[in-house]
Amino acid sequence: MSSHFGIIGAGPSGLAVNLFLKKSAEIVESNNHVGGHASSFFEKGFTFDYGPHILFSKDQLILDFIIATLGENINRCKRNNKISFKDRIIKYPFENDLHSLPLEDNYECIRHFIFNQYKNQYSIPNNMREWFLKTFGEGICSRYLFPYNEKVWNIPVEKLSMSLADRIPNPPAEDILKSSLGYSTEGYLHQLYYFYPTTGGYQAICEAWKKSATIIYQFNVDRIQLTDNKKIRLIDQTGIAREYHQVISTMPVHEILYKLDIKVPNEIKIAIEQLIVNPMFIVSFGIRGIDPHQYTAVYFPESDFWVNRISFPCTFSSANGPEGYYSLQAEITCAKNSNIWHKTAEEMLAHTKQGLQKRGLLPNDEHIILERVDRKDQSYVVYDVGYEENAQKVRAWFSSIGIILLGRFSYFEYINIDMAVDRAIKIAIDLNNDKGDFKQLKSDYLKSALIKLTSTRSELCPQYQ
Ligand SMILES: Cc1cc2nc3c(=O)[nH]c(=O)nc-3n(C[C@H](O)[C@H](O)[C@H](O)COP(=O)(O)OP(=O)(O)OC[C@H]3O[C@@H](n4cnc5c(N)ncnc54)[C@H](O)[C@@H]3O)c2cc1C
Repeated sequence: MSSHFGIIGAGPSGLAVNLFLKKSAEIVESNNHVGGHASSFFEKGFTFDYGPHILFSKDQLILDFIIATLGENINRCKRNNKISFKDRIIKYPFENDLHSLPLEDNYECIRHFIFNQYKNQYSIPNNMREWFLKTFGEGICSRYLFPYNEKVWNIPVEKLSMSLADRIPNPPAEDILKSSLGYSTEGYLHQLYYFYPTTGGYQAICEAWKKSATIIYQFNVDRIQLTDNKKIRLIDQTGIAREYHQVISTMPVHEILYKLDIKVPNEIKIAIEQLIVNPMFIVSFGIRGIDPHQYTAVYFPESDFWVNRISFPCTFSSANGPEGYYSLQAEITCAKNSNIWHKTAEEMLAHTKQGLQKRGLLPNDEHIILERVDRKDQSYVVYDVGYEENAQKVRAWFSSIGIILLGRFSYFEYINIDMAVDRAIKIAIDLNNDKGDFKQLKSDYLKSALIKLTSTRSELCPQYQ
């Protein structure tokens, strides 16, 4: 008997929505494993994700749910993030460690913050440049926020949409003043403590969620057709077909476009082409010795160093490396049409190593026992000005042909795993035709999903019993 729902992709979004749907569903997945972008690889005793992942959320209910699905396999850590600035390493976020800057930089940052001419000028900001200036003043912006954000998003800050502002906390003025004088303060409090699976890498989360799922692996959706009896047919590269009443797709929207045996209006093609997604190099190192710094991550605003961030996966969980070793992973985001994206793996490795060794963040070659370069075509969804309108247009058109877009590269939203769960619940409520208070429904959905995943109620954390 065929399932009512077909879900394309066994990443976090596909697996999450599968947990919440009330009618039968099956997942088709092109890989031979779950996890999508949140999956992990294992080499020479090290565990790495495809780009470092950590678990945190402003949504306590969802955070508790994800943690509970991991049972005992969970590690809680305190963030120890840094920023590379001029010749020094300072605390993250930048505005919470002004005292560690050279005196002149500290003075300029606090002066512009206090006497901020942009506060009134951009009281209703139109883009992220205006929002950053209004919130932080020119000193902090020109030294860190502008160069770092332009490096990650690869577009000028004035082209970044206000949608991004939701992700950036507005720090209390008192904290910035204190940080300039040398008092210790913390920003981004919802990330101060984070979680990570003790073993199995970040993929362990999806491994836990696949328990109740029917998954057809190595089914690479190659064609999508609408049938005469109003079903949707998915055909893989070998010609095998599956039919569903409704399809939820988490595959990248730029790819699904070319799989449709359905005429796509020009307007939709153009809107998809205008949605920007940045690719990424991931450079991983396994290192002999004891990690001297125990940093969680270091951010690099410098424009002459391609790396935007490095992370130390053995600080997420010591099981991410063999005893007596530690690991480091560098992320290099760039635009698809940039020179950087055309660099070879060897060039990327050499540049990354040299830059990190120069800064004392990576030891000499004789201590490095693993070097690996991976490329990911999709990593960052870019919120440029105009993004919302294009994304809305695309989502609505797909929905009109019975395909529901869900997930980071499909619904096209800059989300982490927590928001993947939130969006999956919203779609499931709709498709299940459930009515009522969202908060209550969300809590009920999470409770029953957890019961599905755990065999006995005694395994549930108190909140869900
Ligand atoms: C570099 C990076 C760092 C991140 N850091 C964090 C973090 O610290 N914390 C966090 O929680 N999240 C983080 N995320 C986000 C997290 O990885 C995503 O939220 C999550 O992977 C999105 O899940 P998804 O299911 O929407 O999409 P995906 O993970 O992309 O899953 C889509 C699935 O669809 C499958 N698929 C694609 N095409 C086809 C096809 N034709 N046929 C069949 N199947 C197909 C893919 O194989 C994949 O399994 C990060 C992401 C990146 C890229």
